[in-house]
Amino acid sequence: MKGLLLKNCTFLDSSAGGVYCEGGRIEKIYRGGEPAVPPDAAVVDANGGTVLPGLIDSHCHPFEYSWLKRNLDLRGTSSVVALRLRIQAGVLRAKPGEWVVGMGWDQEAFPGRKMPAKEDIDGVSPANPVAVTRVCGHVALLNSAAISRLGLGSRTGPLFERGQGGELTGIVKEGALTEVGASIPKTAEELASGLQAVESEGARLGLAALHTIVSPDGFREELAALALLATEGRLALRHRIYVPPDSLGLLGEGKLGPKLAGPRARINGVKIFADGSLGARTAALREPYSDDPSNSGLLGYGDEELAALVERVDSMGQQAIIHAIGDRAVEQAIGALSRVTGATNPRRHRIEHAGLIPRDLRSRMARHGIRAAVQPCFVTSDTWAQERLGEERIRDLYPFRSMLREGLVASGGSDCPVESLSPILGVWSAMTRGGIVPEEAIGMDEALSMYTSMAASNGFDDHPFAEGSPADLTLLDSAVAGMHPALFRKVKPFATVVDGVPVHSYGFG
Ligand SMILES: [Zn+2]
Repeated sequence: MKGLLLKNCTFLDSSAGGVYCEGGRIEKIYRGGEPAVPPDAAVVDANGGTVLPGLIDSHCHPFEYSWLKRNLDLRGTSSVVALRLRIQAGVLRAKPGEWVVGMGWDQEAFPGRKMPAKEDIDGVSPANPVAVTRVCGHVALLNSAAISRLGLGSRTGPLFERGQGGELTGIVKEGALTEVGASIPKTAEELASGLQAVESEGARLGLAALHTIVSPDGFREELAALALLATEGRLALRHRIYVPPDSLGLLGEGKLGPKLAGPRARINGVKIFADGSLGARTAALREPYSDDPSNSGLLGYGDEELAALVERVDSMGQQAIIHAIGDRAVEQAIGALSRVTGATNPRRHRIEHAGLIPRDLRSRMARHGIRAAVQPCFVTSDTWAQERLGEERIRDLYPFRSMLREGLVASGGSDCPVESLSPILGVWSAMTRGGIVPEEAIGMDEALSMYTSMAASNGFDDHPFAEGSPADLTLLDSAVAGMHPALFRKVKPFATVVDGVPVHSYGFG
């Protein structure tokens, strides 16, 4: 394989040098004088930009994100004509025959408040099935192509609206939406192309690897898409995959993604939900919500039930990653995990989000080597957090500095599509916290390590940034050591390299 030389780089310790990759490995890291490289090697002049180990997002939902990306946002549509125009724009971007989906229209905002009908949109969508959901999510408009694709022509009953002549109007309701949703294409090919679009965006943002959580309701198709791309060598990024508890039976029988055990895409473990979210007041708290004293949130499992599930996952040799945001849920997760971790936690079981995590819980995690996967962007996005938790408790919400000082491994991630996929934004949030509990802010080196060494370790990829390691690298467009956070936020990835191959690059080829 042709080599790749990144020259005129800066390292995080401010020294200058470069990296030469060959055969998917880091062949040489040099400081000072340039090494001799084969004449046919590709050479990239980094112009002083910083070279880092490839950045890793340790918690994201790329399939959910690709679904959102392909949906048309129809909020604010003011008339049937405007609805038609927006659908036309969506059809132009789609291949012939591909589904065009969207959400957010509201006939209450249209002149005359009349429900739209299939005739209003058929003219701009002759060859593409269209399904667009009303803002409420309980009603959708289908075009004629969608009705015939789904074979709904003869359906009767209140869920399928019919006009005075008895023909379907294109408006379907409630249960019919679920039926439509379930039939909208989740073929492996379509999911694969959606995933590739997310990978391209991730590579542009400097990500070399994702900890990819597949959906509880679509895991079979999503794993098939990953397997398809993996076997054809078409995955741009590395994927460490987490499957839902419902798939444990199949996983145990070796029937789940037998092709997903390679270095590019590998099933690592099982994602479990212990509670909900602070925003919806469903995160499980030890004490009630400050802005809803009758409510302490909701646990997904009883204590014993969660412990049994964790034991099952552990005994299958899988890594358990448990979504827990409220302190009650984190406590429950620690209780379940500590039964199987001993002091060193060899399966590297993790708590995802680990939101409200006071000192007693942090020290129990440290004692059992339980890891965390956190989302620094939550700190700046959860603007209502102080209302939910009050002035005292908010000090223990996402306390990154304390977690690292007390020896916890805390990897960084986006939870995309909840937050932007950008690791640069994540690092910036961890450094600044938007001024929220600023004493828990961390420095750039530590924040970057959340997206490099700690994320790698949390996904069983702990190779040192050293010769012989897989050549996953992120090259930034400037020397970032000592840079002010406000400037760091504007840094752009100049290149992203996976297995020695640039999956994103500006200005060289
Ligand atoms: Zn998530």
